[in-house]
Amino acid sequence: MIDLLVRGARLITADGPSLVDIHIDEGTFRAVLPTSDQPPEAATVIDANGALISAPFVEPHVHLDATLTAGEPRWNESGTLWEGIACWSERKPMLTRNDVRDRAEEVLRWYAANGTLHVRSHVDITDENLVALDALLEVRERVRDVITLQLVAFPQEGICSFPRGEELLEEAARRGVDVIGAIPHFEDTREDGVRSIDVAVDVAQRYGLRIDAHCDEIDDEQSRFIEVLATRAHRTGMRERVTASHTTAMGSYNAAYSYKLRRIVARAGINLVCNPLVNLHLQGRFDSYPKRRGLTQVKEMLAAGVNVAFGHDDIMDPWYPLGTANPVQVAHAGAHATQLMAPTEVAECFRMVTDRAAATLGLGDGYGIDTGRPASFVLLPATDPFDVIRRQVRPSHVVSHGALIATTPAAPTTLTWPGRDAEEVDFQRRRDVVL
Ligand SMILES: [Zn+2]
Repeated sequence: MIDLLVRGARLITADGPSLVDIHIDEGTFRAVLPTSDQPPEAATVIDANGALISAPFVEPHVHLDATLTAGEPRWNESGTLWEGIACWSERKPMLTRNDVRDRAEEVLRWYAANGTLHVRSHVDITDENLVALDALLEVRERVRDVITLQLVAFPQEGICSFPRGEELLEEAARRGVDVIGAIPHFEDTREDGVRSIDVAVDVAQRYGLRIDAHCDEIDDEQSRFIEVLATRAHRTGMRERVTASHTTAMGSYNAAYSYKLRRIVARAGINLVCNPLVNLHLQGRFDSYPKRRGLTQVKEMLAAGVNVAFGHDDIMDPWYPLGTANPVQVAHAGAHATQLMAPTEVAECFRMVTDRAAATLGLGDGYGIDTGRPASFVLLPATDPFDVIRRQVRPSHVVSHGALIATTPAAPTTLTWPGRDAEEVDFQRRRDVVL
């Protein structure tokens, strides 16, 4: 007898869609087989009823230390990144370990309920006492049976421009972060920005860690630290272990420089993370009309062969007052914001919160629906990824390491319409399949 059997799930592979039974034992996928009338006995059986099975959602970029602090001690009235940083520096002295831990865990529960089982969170280490870092290191352990949490040492107020910035970054590495961050566009001078990247690369290499830098999150076409980061990734061989997040200045680069940059980024093999919800709101705030979008050149970078993922970034904090930790909402906004609307492009937006985000985190064999891998997945009452994005479908079941951790029943609406009996509205699923 096996632990868990999933019957009749819709699995889409390169060969097309098929109905499968999934056998799970001891937290691992044991078999993925065409659906059968004589399945093995199982302690628990989930009838998928044709629902789409997918590897779980992956959050490549969030700030859990700041989450749920919107309005404390005051609201960000201007809606700029800069006032957000000012509000946060006023909130920071009030941080306690329990305060950070409770807010972060609350939002991780939201993530799990939405089917997100791998999360990369930045944590501000420009704090003499590293209160938030210690709290999130504790959270990483507390949630590890359900969610894989990667922590990025994020120097919110700079590495070179903040007192003891370099030492704090190194101390964060010593305490056990997974990833080293940077914020070169925020440093006082361009030279400090370049040097901050070199410091980050040095620490990452000495501790064997990845890099994820907040890079060019500004509407300044002169902010070009991504070329520095990508070149370091290329020359050190760190390649796909390096990620540039936000990269909103790309929305302002001229065509000639954009062309050159695509080659540099593709050659380096680095990942990009675009945060459409938050940067649509924060960027362009100093423009009159026409107003810039301030987003990564997602379509062009994908075409150049670069791995790009979508992140949520902020959830109810000084930079963004909304959010429910739902990656499908992020992908939906991303499709609009980056004009990825052809059917295959909408499906690609789904990959940007699943497979592509998993590659950014370097999850490797720890992710995906295949024999021998951890049995973590979601069931989505939908035909295909396009359908998930269009109807913003929530997972009916979330399974982590073979354990069912969340269920969400359908919430049908009954409509009474002239000339018709009362009926459920189903918003018409698509008939054909988009891969
Ligand atoms: Zn961020």
